[in-house]
Formats: sequence, structure tokens, C-alpha cells
Amino acid sequence: MTRVRVDAERCVGSGSCEALAPDMFEVGDDGIVEILQPLDGAAARALAADAVQVCPTRALSLVD
Ligand code: SF4
Repeated sequence: MTRVRVDAERCVGSGSCEALAPDMFEVGDDGIVEILQPLDGAAARALAADAVQVCPTRALSLVD
């Protein structure tokens, strides 16, 4: 099952992913994004792929 991986070393808490998919991402108090839910279905996977693209620091990746 595909999941989103966050590279905490790269995440700068910009919130771009959260703005795109607030049900999927949330920037925590520590400034590092958290994944709120697993990728369930093609639509969620496509949304996650978009989030990977908008992240300014390339902190997100999809892992099969
Ligand atoms: S878009 Fe990238 S840098 Fe910004 S909060 Fe999301 S994972 Fe972190």
C-alpha cells in the first residue's frame, strides 16, 4: 500500500501540503508536518502526489 513519507530534516513547516490537503497533512507544534490519514484510494493517492509536487523543500515522497 502506498504511503507518504516525510523527511523531517527537510520539512520547514511551510504548510503548502496542508493548504492543499488539510485532511491529510497538519503542521505540528514542532513545525514538522504530520500525516493524518493513510492513503485510501486513487483520489487520495493523486492528492498526495500533488502535495509531493508543491512541497518547496521536497520533504514528501510516496513509498510503495
Ligand atoms: S509542504 Fe513540505 S515543507 Fe511545507 S509543511 Fe508540507 S512537508 Fe513541510
